[in-house]
Amino acid sequence: MRTLLDLVLPASCGGCDTPGVDWCTDCAAELSRDPIRLRPRSDPGVPCWALGPYRGAARRAVLAAKERGRRDLAAPLGVALARALSTLRAKDRPLMVVPAPSRRAAARRRGGDPVLRAARAATGWLHDCQVVPLARTRWYVRDSVGLTTRERHHNLHGRIIVAPAAVNSAQIPENVEVVLVDDVLTTGATATETVRALSRVGLRTRAVLVVCGA
Ligand SMILES: [Zn+2]
Repeated sequence: MRTLLDLVLPASCGGCDTPGVDWCTDCAAELSRDPIRLRPRSDPGVPCWALGPYRGAARRAVLAAKERGRRDLAAPLGVALARALSTLRAKDRPLMVVPAPSRRAAARRRGGDPVLRAARAATGWLHDCQVVPLARTRWYVRDSVGLTTRERHHNLHGRIIVAPAAVNSAQIPENVEVVLVDDVLTTGATATETVRALSRVGLRTRAVLVVCGA
């Protein structure tokens, strides 16, 4: 089956285009370094971390998953996110991963939400951890591509919501730690709005973790 698929769609590394593999060992090594601390212009008020800077394997993998429909990259991105999450979390508390909301139309166009998919892959490697897509955007939020920092703020202000009903039905443990996960952090506008939306329903975010940060 794999050989047959290779004829149609030759495999290449999602991080560096090396042919014959989906994800090479060099790219895996690049993404398994210690997370780097980010200081976005829009400060969500919680520590922000990235698996790597917005270049190299991290950036290419994010773009391939998002723009080229490389669903298979959820697996290696999940492994790398899990590694970072296990260093960031408190060992004695349950962990809840909340994927940053993606605009539904954009997610559909991309054939699903790559952030949610990678987050789900990550939780498979972690004990006492669940991924709960609590946050969503209101329908009129534009895709942020091409917007300035100011425009992004305006676009997102108050438009990321966490429905209290969703929180109740998720049966969240009392002492849960919340980590917000996204693919890219640039201005910090999405993270800031999502952290704020989570706090409005009584959920305190411990950290933000992204694949790559600008
Ligand atoms: Zn590679």
